[in-house]
Amino acid sequence: MSKVEAAQQPATDQVGLERIGIYPGTFDPVTLGHVDIATRALRLCDKLIIAVGDNRNKNPLFSTQERIALIRQSLASADVDGKVVVEEFHGLTVKYAQQVGASLIVRGLRAVTDFEWEFQLALINRSQDPQIESVCLMTSQEYSFLSASMVRELAMLGGNLTGLVPVNVAEALKRKLTDMHASL
Ligand code: ADP
Repeated sequence: MSKVEAAQQPATDQVGLERIGIYPGTFDPVTLGHVDIATRALRLCDKLIIAVGDNRNKNPLFSTQERIALIRQSLASADVDGKVVVEEFHGLTVKYAQQVGASLIVRGLRAVTDFEWEFQLALINRSQDPQIESVCLMTSQEYSFLSASMVRELAMLGGNLTGLVPVNVAEALKRKLTDMHASL
């Protein structure tokens, strides 16, 4: 096989022919924008691992275990047929991708403001392992303004979260904020 032919071969993973992607993020909390990216990413890989970073420096509202549980519940009604796994990860994304045998890192792109950061991340990740491709999926129009930080802000101000987060997430936000107020 020539070099050109070899380069044109689809990148398969070490584990059989299964193509594994990871979708890393903080997901504090998961939004319908994240769910949309995760379900669309399944067109690009056989198995998607949603990798939840503990990101203590971001001082998340929900603990890592709570964020994982919210993602699992949110995907329960999506037609993902056991093709999505949700786990915690620490450290370098590329090292984690290598450990789980992933060949794709999936990220989402909203406005131009996301581009610079995602571009830098993709280049840094490629410098660590050129075999692992970063793929940015464009947001769906209805979620283009949606971020987890907006959702947290809106929840704190008593806004309506319908159409922005799965129902279980809206309920968890309400409970979390009530508990926080009660402990003040
Ligand atoms: P991080 O803390 O790593 O930025 P997030 O959990 O906020 O992680 O987001 C994970 C990924 O999902 C990022 O690539 C982010 O750009 C993308 N993302 C978040 N919200 C949306 C959305 N509404 N549409 C498309 N992509 C999104």
